[in-house]
Amino acid sequence: PARATLIDGKAFSQTLVTRVAEAAARLEKAHGLKPGLAVVIVGEDPASQLYVRNKGETTLKAGMRSDTHRLPDTTTQDELLALIAQLNADKGIHGILVQLPLPRHIDSTAVLDAISPDKDVDGFHVVNAGRLAVGLPGLVPCTPLGCLMLLKDQLGDLSGLNAVIVGRSNIVGKPMAQLLIGESCTVTVAHSRTRDLPALCRTADILVAAVGRPEMIKGDWIKPGATVIDVGINRVPSRDPVKAAEGKTRVVGDVAFDEAVEVAGRITPVPGGVGPMTIACLLANTYTAACRAAGVEPED
Ligand code: NDP
Repeated sequence: PARATLIDGKAFSQTLVTRVAEAAARLEKAHGLKPGLAVVIVGEDPASQLYVRNKGETTLKAGMRSDTHRLPDTTTQDELLALIAQLNADKGIHGILVQLPLPRHIDSTAVLDAISPDKDVDGFHVVNAGRLAVGLPGLVPCTPLGCLMLLKDQLGDLSGLNAVIVGRSNIVGKPMAQLLIGESCTVTVAHSRTRDLPALCRTADILVAAVGRPEMIKGDWIKPGATVIDVGINRVPSRDPVKAAEGKTRVVGDVAFDEAVEVAGRITPVPGGVGPMTIACLLANTYTAACRAAGVEPED
């Protein structure tokens, strides 16, 4: 059998950023409103610092306003809530993102729920989770939104397909399930208590892996020809033992790619699959939020 087609999330995300930038420019021209994204980071975690820098740079590249608020580790919850209140009231800001994880003395749920749902471009607010669940327009979490875009681009109409999602987190698995129900897939959500996961996975026309366990899903768990979306980002030691001993790492997904690529019809590589879609969808959500603030229908 032929090897699977690789789903190029990097290329797709670049096209999406360009499209969002063009739509944002038209919005600014027609309505005098430039979409603005505020990113808040508390503390010095190097990985978070890198994510925040990438988000800021991509936002500016898309011709949008980008504000980054860097707060010290010692920031109190009340100080952070005061900043959120100020951003909620700021008419030039349409999207607010608080980079996670927050320091342990701050209650993340209280902070995320303080963000105005209409500016919640991460889509983590309970109001947006509720809107998604009942099929109302809201803001959808970026990673599953990106997965859905890739699936529709690859497969067109998804209706009637069997989708298995491995993982039930609030940021990936659950919203992914809601989105695929919305596309009329038959959806099964698996997790750590699922019985005979390999057999369940083999029923999937669409298999979404969002587990956080390196290469857990094997080639023989995949139905021949299935579409595999690998959300996992796991750091493992380098293949080269000398480099591994020096502490060098590489990134792998939740799917054993080398086996899966021989069985699947289409598959996202890691890196270069789902990962790059997340920032692109953040900009798409910021644009959507800006349109709604202006009372304008967002372009597709
Ligand atoms: P969580 O840790 O929040 O959730 C993991 C889920 O996997 C849980 O529902 C858990 O089940 C389930 N699980 C764990 N072990 C098993 C197992 N052995 N068999 C079946 N199910 C299992 O992770 P996230 O959803 O936040 O992230 C998942 C992965 O996606 C991670 O690798 C993360 O790095 C990556 N990620 C990538 C993003 C991107 O591309 N930009 C964005 C977000 C995440 P239970 O509920 O029973 O514990």
